[in-house]
Amino acid sequence: MVLSSVLGFPRIGANREVKKAVEAYWAGKLSAEDLIKAAADVKKSSWTSLKERGVDLIPSGEFSLYDHVLDHSAAFNAIPKRYQGLGLSALDVFFAMGRGRQADGVDVPACEMKKWFDSNYHFVVPELSEETDFKLLYNKVLAEYKEAKEIGVVTRPVVLGPISYLVLGKAAKEASPNFQPISLLPKILPVYKQLLSELKAAGAESVQIDEPILVLDKGAELDKQYAYAYAELAPVSPKIILTTYFNRLDSNINFIAKLPVAGLHIDLVRAPQQLGEVLAAIKSTPIVISLGVVSGRNIWKADFAVAIKFAQTAIAALGADRVVVATSSSLLHTPVTLASEKKLTQQQRDWFSFALEKAAEVATIAAVLSGSQDPKVSAALEANKVSIAKRREFESTSDDAVRKRVAAITPDMYDRKSPFAVRKEVQAKHLNLPRFPTTTIGSFPQTKEIRTARAKLGKGEISEAEYDEFIKKEIELVVKFQEKVGLDLLVHGEPERNDMVQYFGEQLTGFVFTQNAWVQSYGSRYVRPPIIVSDVSRPTPMTVKWSSYAQSVSSKPMKGMLSGPVTILNWSFPRDDVPRKLQSQQLALALRDEVLDLEKAGISAIQVDEPAIREGLPLRRSDWDEYLQWAVDTFKLSTAGVTDATQTHSHFCYSDFGDIFPSIQRLDADVISIEFSKSDMKLLHTFKQYGYSNQIGPGVYDIHSPRIPSEAEIIERLKTTLAIIPDHLMFINPDCGLKTRGWKETEASLANLVAAARWARANA
Ligand code: GLN
Ligand code: ZN
Repeated sequence: MVLSSVLGFPRIGANREVKKAVEAYWAGKLSAEDLIKAAADVKKSSWTSLKERGVDLIPSGEFSLYDHVLDHSAAFNAIPKRYQGLGLSALDVFFAMGRGRQADGVDVPACEMKKWFDSNYHFVVPELSEETDFKLLYNKVLAEYKEAKEIGVVTRPVVLGPISYLVLGKAAKEASPNFQPISLLPKILPVYKQLLSELKAAGAESVQIDEPILVLDKGAELDKQYAYAYAELAPVSPKIILTTYFNRLDSNINFIAKLPVAGLHIDLVRAPQQLGEVLAAIKSTPIVISLGVVSGRNIWKADFAVAIKFAQTAIAALGADRVVVATSSSLLHTPVTLASEKKLTQQQRDWFSFALEKAAEVATIAAVLSGSQDPKVSAALEANKVSIAKRREFESTSDDAVRKRVAAITPDMYDRKSPFAVRKEVQAKHLNLPRFPTTTIGSFPQTKEIRTARAKLGKGEISEAEYDEFIKKEIELVVKFQEKVGLDLLVHGEPERNDMVQYFGEQLTGFVFTQNAWVQSYGSRYVRPPIIVSDVSRPTPMTVKWSSYAQSVSSKPMKGMLSGPVTILNWSFPRDDVPRKLQSQQLALALRDEVLDLEKAGISAIQVDEPAIREGLPLRRSDWDEYLQWAVDTFKLSTAGVTDATQTHSHFCYSDFGDIFPSIQRLDADVISIEFSKSDMKLLHTFKQYGYSNQIGPGVYDIHSPRIPSEAEIIERLKTTLAIIPDHLMFINPDCGLKTRGWKETEASLANLVAAARWARANA
C-alpha cells in the first residue's frame, strides 16, 4: 500500500485569519488567549481538511504565529540576551525577536531575517554563541500533536533538524571570533532527544525531521555530524523521516543512505534526475522513500501520469510498502485554496491547484498506486488527464510575434553603444548633475489617501479620470517636495503602484491575477504573486504617462522607474512549460520597449529594479553560471537600447554580493543603489577588490525604521564610504524605497541627506 503525505501547510488561514489576529494582538486589541484560540481554529481547520482529502500523513508542529525557525529558537531557549529579563511573556519575547519591540520603555530591534533557501519566504536567523544554553522551554511540537489528536486527527509531527537549524544560524555578537554554530551540536542534541522521546511517549509513530541543508553543497562537509547526530537521535525517537527539499542530494546520498533513519524524502519536482541514484543507494537498506511529486512551490495542477511513473519506478525497485507519495516541500509557499477564487475563468481554474487541492492530489495518486477500485479515484484520475490535456493544448499555442522577437535577439542588443567611461561624460553634460548627486529609490510614502483612492477605483466609486487627477496631484506634491528639499535626480514617487510586480503584470499580456491567493512572505506580511500563464508582451506603454507628467512639472531631471525582468519573474508564479530564461527574455523585451518609450518622452535617467536577482540564484553552485548568464543578459536586454546620454540605474535591496560580484559589474548599469546602512565595510572592500567601475549609491540610512538619521550620522557614513569609493562615482541615496514610511520622517531624513551631500561637495 502506498501512503500519501503533506510536508507542511500554509499557516495563514483561508481568509488571512492569522494575520488579522496577530496584528490585532500587537495593537493591543486582542488578548493572548484569543490569539491562541484564533490560531487553534486555523490549525483545526487545516488538520480536518487534510484528513477529509484523504491524506495519510498529516503534518503538525509546523504551524507558526510568525516563523517556524523562530518558534524553534524560542522553544529551545536560543534567545539572545537583549530579549531576556524585560519582564515579557514568552509570547512577547517571541514577537520581540521577530519584529522588535518599542513600548513601555523597552526598545529592542528585531533579529535578522533571511530568505529561506531560494524562496521568497523569510526566516528569523538564530543567533548562537558558546553561551547559548539550549533547553526545552516548551515542547510546541508535542503540544500540537496532542491538539490534533484531541480532535481525532493523528498527525506526523514536523521538526527542523539539528544540523539544518545550526547551519542556518549565525554567530551572535558575543561569540568568539572563530565560533561556528555547528560546534553546538553536542549541546543541542540532548534537547532534541527530550523533544523526540516525549513525542514517542505520546504515541507518535514517526516524525518528519527537516534537513534541507542536505541539498546544498555544504551538506557534503557535514557527513560526520549527520552520522553522529542521527545515531544519537534514532534510538529515542519515533521513526525518523529525514526530509529534504528544493534541490537534489547529489553525492550526499552516499552518507545519507547509511543513516539510521526509517525514511527519506526527496524533491522530484525540483530535481527529478536524482531518483535513480537515490533508489540505487537505498535499495539494500530498509529506508522508505517519500517522493515529492506534487509541487509545494508552484500552483499548477500536478500531472498524475508523470507522478505515477516516478512512483512506479520506485515501487519496482523497493516494493510498494517502501514508497510514499508527497508534496515536494511544505505547502507554505502556496495559497490555501482555489475555492476562494471567484474571478478566474473556468479554463484558468482548471489549470491550478492550491494547497488544499494539492493535498487531494497526493491522496489520489497514492490511491491509484495502491490499486484503489473506488470510482471517485478513477474519476479523479480521468479528470486530471482531461485537465492536463487541455492545459497542454493551451500551452501549445503561443504568441508568434513574441517568439519570433526572442529568436531574433542579437548579441549587440545586450550592450550599450559605448563603454561606461564614454557614457559618463555624455551623461554629465546631458543631466548636469552636481558632484555627489542625491536621489531616492523610487517610492514615496503610500499614504492612506492613496490606498483609499485605489480601492475606490477598484470598486468603481470614482472614475478612471478622477483617479488619474488624484495621482497627478500626488506626483506633483512629491516632485515639489523633492525640489524644495534640494534633491538632484527626482522621481515621480510611484503613487499609482499597488506593488512593484503586480503593477506591471496587470499591464502585460500573459499574466493571471488572483483575489485571495496570499502566501506568507514573513511574519504577518503576505504577498499575492501573479501567475504567468502564456507569452508576455506589452500592448501599450505602462509608465510613460506618469513619468512624463512628473517631468513636465519640474526642470530638474526625472528618473523613470521600472521593475526588472528577473524580479518580475521571481516574484510571480512562473509557467512550468517553458524555461525561466524564455520568460525572462520576453519580460525583458517588453521592458526594453518601455525604456525606449521613456527615453523618447524625454526621461533621461531610467531605473530598472532587480532586488530579486540574488534570491533566484540556484542552490547548487554548479548551477550558478547558467542562471547568472541569462539573468544578467535579460537585465541588459531591457536596458541597453538607450543612447549614451540616458543614464541607467538599478537597485538591489541587499549588499551581500560576495561571489556574484562579477555579475553585478556585467549588468553595466550606469548607477546602482544598494542596501548598505546595515552592512559592514566588508561590502565596500569587495567593491574595491573587484575594481567595480561604474557609479554607485550605497544607501546612507535604513528606511525600514521610522528613525530619523542625523546629518552628522550620514556624514560619518559618507566618510567611511569615501575612503573606498572614488568621489566621482558616488551617488547619495537612502537604502530602499520610502513607501512604508510616513511623510514626517521622510521629510526630516531627506533634508539631512541633502545637507550631508552639501557637506561632501564642500569637504571631500
Ligand atoms: N523602486 C522601488 C521602490 O522604491 C524599489 C522597491 C524595492 O527595492 N523592493 O519602492
Ligand atoms: Zn530595495
